[in-house]
Amino acid sequence: MSAALDALGGLAYGLLGLWVGSLLGLAADRLPRGQSLRAQSRCDWCGYTLALRDRMPVISYLRLRGRCRTCAAPIGARTLIVELATGALYLLLWVVFGPTLRLLLNTVYVSVLVLVYVIDVEHHLVLSVVIVPAILLSILAVPLQLLIRPPASLYISWLARVLAGASIPLPRLAMISQGLGLLCGFGIFWLIWRLNPRGMGYGDVRLAAFVGLISGFPGALYTVYGAILLGGLVAIALIVRWGKAALKRYIAFAPFLVIAALVVLILGDQLAALYLAR
Ligand SMILES: [Zn+2]
Repeated sequence: MSAALDALGGLAYGLLGLWVGSLLGLAADRLPRGQSLRAQSRCDWCGYTLALRDRMPVISYLRLRGRCRTCAAPIGARTLIVELATGALYLLLWVVFGPTLRLLLNTVYVSVLVLVYVIDVEHHLVLSVVIVPAILLSILAVPLQLLIRPPASLYISWLARVLAGASIPLPRLAMISQGLGLLCGFGIFWLIWRLNPRGMGYGDVRLAAFVGLISGFPGALYTVYGAILLGGLVAIALIVRWGKAALKRYIAFAPFLVIAALVVLILGDQLAALYLAR
């Protein structure tokens, strides 16, 4: 594919990301309140029904300067941030995976992760209505590895060595890797939850199962390790800033799990190659 066509594709995919980001923001507003996703968008303050021109990602927010068209109530910068972040992630996905089936699959995973992230940061909740269907659909998608022809990444070749089965074709190894990742993510977090049920919600266990499934094995281990490392660093930063009082502040774990999963999912192969090249 020519460079110009590739750049154009990336731009279009990034724009699609802005639009999906706008829908994810809407879902993050409505799902925790149990509202329908299909209902008309209205201003929370004056009840004004948003027209199409009020719902254009990024553009509408900037043109209205973050306020409702009729009552001027603030819309909140989160709308804009989620749109821009999703757009940037889609662009990155395009750069890393190009126009492939793997791109489509990882795009779905990334979109679920963004939704989980926003809802958890705002409500400290991993909604079952989001995560349970995500897990079930991802399990159904596992056989897609047979079509994807996964690359011989470090993860999978590592697994091949452990299984001493270099004769197992790569797509099958990738499927085994996903199954083990699911068990690994679920197992580790189920154990943590079992030992201290008040320290973590069961939603986090479900989220760990999902990120384990999509990162595969041993990718799931890197995801869990990255999340614990990130969570620890943030906890230390909070303690330095606020002293021991910071320990009483609630630190949600799910966002770290999402960030680590995004890194492993999108940049796992690159990081593995960097590590090997040292
Ligand atoms: Zn209004």
